[in-house]
Amino acid sequence: QAKLTGRNKYHFFDAGLDEEVRTHHNQRTEIRQALLAGEFRLYYQPKVNMRAGDVVGMEALLRWQHPRRGVLGPLQFLPMVEQTDLIIDIGEWVLRQALWQMQRWTAAGRHWIVSVNIAARHFQQADFVSRLKAILAEFPGVRASMLELEILESSALDDIEHVRRVMRACQQLGITFALDDFGTGYSSMSYLKRLPANILKIDQSFVRNMLNDRDDLHLVGAVIGLAKSFKLTVIAEGVETVAHGSRLMQMGCDLAQGYGIARPMPADAVLKWAAAFAPAPEWRAAATLSAA
Ligand code: C2E
Ligand code: MG
Ligand code: MG
Ligand code: MG
Repeated sequence: QAKLTGRNKYHFFDAGLDEEVRTHHNQRTEIRQALLAGEFRLYYQPKVNMRAGDVVGMEALLRWQHPRRGVLGPLQFLPMVEQTDLIIDIGEWVLRQALWQMQRWTAAGRHWIVSVNIAARHFQQADFVSRLKAILAEFPGVRASMLELEILESSALDDIEHVRRVMRACQQLGITFALDDFGTGYSSMSYLKRLPANILKIDQSFVRNMLNDRDDLHLVGAVIGLAKSFKLTVIAEGVETVAHGSRLMQMGCDLAQGYGIARPMPADAVLKWAAAFAPAPEWRAAATLSAA
């Protein structure tokens, strides 16, 4: 009797699981087709130096220009493929697209560092460095030192030694590394000690509430302090207002990215945006104050 119930139960869940597997399979097929059909786009979000008042770089952010559903963000489709090799094909498409764009900007006299987010599975491939070298060689107009890779601390979870070696090998080519969403990971401190990062990106969840939450303010301050003592560059993401920026500058963080500066935009809008960019008057004031 009990066994029968168990079997029935099993069949019940099994059918549900089958359906789930089918749905995931269909979603992955659709995503692969979108890649082949050229429905992916890169948007770019500026990174600025609030003190100097200039644009220092761009972060490439993936979008899916879906024929029926409109523009989809990466969180709406990347999680479905993160555990499959499709994430590697997508990642390589992103790298090529970003390098192609950098080549155009360089030709237009804009020497921006462009950062690309790299998924853990992609980064952990044994041939990551050799394939990246080959991709870089396709774009002779771009120096590797203009490319920055953003990785999550959790990318290193599985094999920190391998990740470390890959980072070193890339850095030998001139590529720099940012630890994205810094502070949200399990053991940010031990990664900081063991991974040769160049840049810390303060997670936007801390930045967003820093003006009305003391704890978040202290966390932001702690990350800035860490970056300073490890001689790393620090950038705040999720800077939604001028006031956030001013406070960050007071705390010693001059680099920022966020809706308060610019939203991610299609590549063809970037040059025009950059030509019109001027730092907030409050930031100029803060810069002169602390220089005095
Ligand atoms: P991320 O790398 O931490 O990127 C920052 C995200 O915050 C972006 O979301 C950006 O649009 C958003 N953002 C920027 N400024 C603000 C702000 O002031 N306020 C708020 N609320 N949000 C802001 P997006 O484009 O949806 O990307 C989400 C995540 O998807 C990224 O987080 C990154 O982890 C991943 N991702 C994006 N593009 C790629 C890609 O090409 N490859 C891989 N593997 N992952 C990607
Ligand atoms: Mg990022
Ligand atoms: Mg981030
Ligand atoms: Mg994030």
